Amino acid sequence: MKKIIILGSTGSIGTNALEVIRNAKDKFQVIGISGYKNYELLVEQIEEFKPQYVCIGTEDGYKSLKDKFPLLELFYGEKGLVELSQIKDYDILLTAVSGAVGIDATVEGIKNEKTIALANKETMVAAGEYINQLLKKYKNAKIIPVDSEHSAIFQSIQAGKIDEIENLIITASGGTFRGKKKEELQNVTIDQALKHPTWKMGKKITIDSSTLVNKGLEVIEAHGLFGICYDNIKVLIHPQSIIHSMVEFKDKNIIAQLGIHDMKLPIQYAFTYPDRMANPIFNSLDLVKISSLTFEQPDNDVFRGLEFAYIAGKIGETMPVVLNAANEVAVDLFLNKKISFLTIYEIIEKSINRHKIQKITDIDIIKAVDKETREWIKSNYK
Ligand code: MN
Repeated sequence: MKKIIILGSTGSIGTNALEVIRNAKDKFQVIGISGYKNYELLVEQIEEFKPQYVCIGTEDGYKSLKDKFPLLELFYGEKGLVELSQIKDYDILLTAVSGAVGIDATVEGIKNEKTIALANKETMVAAGEYINQLLKKYKNAKIIPVDSEHSAIFQSIQAGKIDEIENLIITASGGTFRGKKKEELQNVTIDQALKHPTWKMGKKITIDSSTLVNKGLEVIEAHGLFGICYDNIKVLIHPQSIIHSMVEFKDKNIIAQLGIHDMKLPIQYAFTYPDRMANPIFNSLDLVKISSLTFEQPDNDVFRGLEFAYIAGKIGETMPVVLNAANEVAVDLFLNKKISFLTIYEIIEKSINRHKIQKITDIDIIKAVDKETREWIKSNYK
């Protein structure tokens, strides 16, 4: 029985993770969950999964939960997520929260020498080097990526050794606006941007997928997770999203991972690794029905997300923090109808150009740069 804590249990990855657990109750036990604002769903999850520990975003939510479930061990706020990660009696910490708070929780999980099922992008994007140093110190801690591309790479590299890898080939669906010209993107609406062709995901990541910033962040993440240099991390548009990524070894053999596009697959793999468990939810992938897999180069002139990520990643230090923060604020502004779709790129570009890089010696530097970037954008784009 593996004991699991889910940070972000009410989000898209969190609810998928609970679905995996719901279907394998003899293998997994949820001992802790955390939700931010969705009080109703969190209550439902507490009633169904009966965790021992629960963290909620706000103090008000904390008080209501305390009244309703007097026996629960309760936490709240960002501090609460860190405290939840410090508990001793669990095996796997699924970090499915978004934002810099996921970094703190991952750091505590590593110091606690646990297995981290990593679903928080910021951790490896903003703090990759710092996390890797920690992993060297806390040798029993492990990171198993949950993001479908990194799970695919993680599974594929098991066919060889890290120093035998020639290229990581990360696939991308191309997003909602694949094939569109710059002029056609000038006036796109939020509703148009939110119609993702293959994956069903949260709003922010759906926009990130259509700007290719999501893929860019995944390139930086892959660099952090697998230690492969940027020139050897390629991105290929693959609209069917069946191959989730590939590893080309030096002998020119390519190992790919294929599967239906549903996050329950990589989540289950992260929970069962190094073993595999029969899938209780899905049938076999019907390749005859899919019939063809196609590939194309990303259009980097229109979709500049990759360009910015390679720039920020190669510069390193605090630059990926800026990329991530600038993108988050820009997407938020777009979703609130304050800026146009293409202005997302403008904001990222300006933020990168104005930033003076700093060495990351602790997490506070990441937070300071993150905050400064957000404030600059907010005061310049109202
Ligand atoms: Mn992904």
